[in-house]
Amino acid sequence: MAYSYDTQNIFARILRGEIPCAKVLETAHSLAFNDIQPQAPHHVLVIPRGAYVNADHFALEASDAEIADFARCIGQVCQSLGIRPGEGGAGYRLITNAGEDGVQEVPHYHVHILGGRMLGRMLQKG
Ligand code: 5GP
Repeated sequence: MAYSYDTQNIFARILRGEIPCAKVLETAHSLAFNDIQPQAPHHVLVIPRGAYVNADHFALEASDAEIADFARCIGQVCQSLGIRPGEGGAGYRLITNAGEDGVQEVPHYHVHILGGRMLGRMLQKG
């Protein structure tokens, strides 16, 4: 089944410049900006510029250039935030939600970068 992409989703509108965002990094194929409702002192969203719904859509259909750019963008944001554990930072967590069980709110692929505090265990029961 092919994914259908909602061109009116909020991140598509951010990419078109129709609504503002607090940009952290722009690359050829990706955009990073602060989450509007941060869950940690650092809460950055990284999105591809292309019309992908979620992680599996992106992984299966994006070009190698888009995938490489996206991965590098995440790394560069972690570097700029000073949260890389190998570089003296205290660490971070990447989260990507997909579909109903993943409780995905915005249907444009995005990775959350969370850091700046102890985040606790990965999942809570229930
Ligand atoms: P999801 O649940 O889809 O993984 O996460 C969507 C995220 O997008 C949420 O953390 C939410 O706070 C964030 N978000 C929703 N609308 C906006 C917006 O207009 N601007 C920004 N910067 N973040 C948004």
